[in-house]
Amino acid sequence: MNKQQIIDILNDNSKNQEIFALADKVRHENVGDSVHLRGLIEFSDICRCDCLYCGLRCSNKTADRYRINKDEIVSIARNAVSIGYKTIVLQSGEDLFYNTDTICEIIRKIKSMDVAVTLSIGEKTYDEYKAYKVVGADRYLLRIETTDVNLYKTMHPNVSFENRIKCLENLKSLGYEVGTGCLVGLPNQTVDSLADDILFFKALDADMVGIGPFIPHKQTPLKDSVSGSFDLALKVMALTRIKMPNINIPATTAMEVINPNGRIIALQSGANVVMPNVTPEIYRTKYEIYPGKNNICDELEQARLEIENKIKSIKRAVSQDYGNRRK
Ligand code: SAH
Repeated sequence: MNKQQIIDILNDNSKNQEIFALADKVRHENVGDSVHLRGLIEFSDICRCDCLYCGLRCSNKTADRYRINKDEIVSIARNAVSIGYKTIVLQSGEDLFYNTDTICEIIRKIKSMDVAVTLSIGEKTYDEYKAYKVVGADRYLLRIETTDVNLYKTMHPNVSFENRIKCLENLKSLGYEVGTGCLVGLPNQTVDSLADDILFFKALDADMVGIGPFIPHKQTPLKDSVSGSFDLALKVMALTRIKMPNINIPATTAMEVINPNGRIIALQSGANVVMPNVTPEIYRTKYEIYPGKNNICDELEQARLEIENKIKSIKRAVSQDYGNRRK
């Protein structure tokens, strides 16, 4: 598939079901039927960035900000590991309160529980990424968000597209499994640029790609914009699977927010990963990158059971291993 073919498929809705079925087949043949569950801990909603779409942006003065201390983060991870999670994802706003030593100490303690550790804490220096890797971090998620440089600049004041790329290259060169991805349906985003996003994932040789629809948040400048389309986000995801048969692709929470069965549909259209939220409810409700995400998850064990049952109901199995990219 070259760029023009991707654009044509994205513009033509008459063959969507065939595309989703093909992506499902490619997923089955290349990464199998098991679904990897990753336990997501949202440990701080404090952020120095001002991304126009995100509810955690520093200009949102109404957000209820919190930080979970390192001991509590480790204990949340321990609970998640005790009920079966094989990967812990640590996500936060870009909160400079946690210095390299603190992050490294948290990683070390979680790694001693015999699980994979994924970080999703934004743009850091090469030396910081290296320090996390040395103590055992396995993976890093940093979405490019959009490869349209002008749109990127509009959406992300005071940061640079070039640095985002540099961060992804640094992570790759340090030997992380690198996750990236994009938002679908940002105001003024074109189908042409979505095709470029898919080609970018391929060129980077991303190990994981997370794709979700943009969902407007009331306390942001994009409050009056329309949500991204579920079908378009699903199609970008499906085409990514077809282009990159052996990577990990999550059925994102944002998909579930705009479609009540969104994650299961995504699992049947190319995805093979789900990231249930294991953050305690008192914090989770405050971590509002977009609205609606907290209606989905319940208490820790119940959430795990519910998603396991859904996975089994579509004749898929819950993976028992770390869920690295299959090469
Ligand atoms: N600070 C970290 C984590 C960001 S939150 C980082 O910079 O990587 C994880 C993802 O949520 C973001 O990469 C973005 O793609 C997504 N997100 C943020 N706001 C959103 C919105 N309004 N709708 C849908 N997804 C959103």
